[in-house]
Amino acid sequence: SLLLALSLFSGASFAQEPVATDSSTKHEYQSDVARLRKIVIESLYSHREVFLRELISNANDAIEKLRLTALKDKTVWDGVAPLNITLKLEKNEEGDGGRLIISDTGIGMSPKELTTNLGTLAKSGTSEFLAKADSNSGSSNGNLIGAFGLGFYSSFLVADKVYVASLPPATEANPQPVQHVFSSSADEPSFDVYPDPRGNTLGRGTEITLVLKKDALEYLEEETVKSLITKHSGFASSFPVYLFTKR
Ligand code: ADP
Ligand code: MG
Repeated sequence: SLLLALSLFSGASFAQEPVATDSSTKHEYQSDVARLRKIVIESLYSHREVFLRELISNANDAIEKLRLTALKDKTVWDGVAPLNITLKLEKNEEGDGGRLIISDTGIGMSPKELTTNLGTLAKSGTSEFLAKADSNSGSSNGNLIGAFGLGFYSSFLVADKVYVASLPPATEANPQPVQHVFSSSADEPSFDVYPDPRGNTLGRGTEITLVLKKDALEYLEEETVKSLITKHSGFASSFPVYLFTKR
């Protein structure tokens, strides 16, 4: 993938977190999801940098899906608007905490899709994964995560809190889509889905905000992220990846 590193002006303000509102719907994770998420968080600690590859490959898949959908339905993408992935590194000025934000201009998710795709395990390979993960020591689980495509949960390896804001393209069936947020904490067995309090801030696509754990702040270092993208995620995306660092 083409990687471009850029700096934001120091005047640029930090992104606003789309925190849950009164209209939020709380969902308990299915027991399998809760179990899987726990395994991922606990056993893949030494492989935690896989989160970046997983999120970039999901972003790539979402853009590819948009492109393919547009072959049949031009209303979803005009063939001109840019298809890309953006990573923003936001270090807190006080030096404690910070956020890594990954956005794509892909197919996006409706509120129903946020709930189903991120909160349930629709995949048939899941029970196989769980069996393998249980019989393995942590050492080889790093490969399992990629092989079975359970990538999204790897976000919780590095984040205490994850927000996924998403806006699908307007279609005939859904001419005025509303941006929704899925949010979840690493230490809670539930997730929330609600209309984004910031409104439709995305032109189209998905924005994942990782509120990083205090011991995962290395992922706010431009050099670390750059080398991870080049080393592990080079083939994860065929679309350009832009890296911004807030200074
Ligand atoms: P997999 O990629 O193998 O399907 P993941 O856990 O990585 O498994 O992602 C689960 C699902 O969530 C994906 O199949 C997709 O439907 C949805 N998803 C994840 N990230 C995005 C994204 N950036 N844009 C749109 N959909 C996404
Ligand atoms: Mg994936």
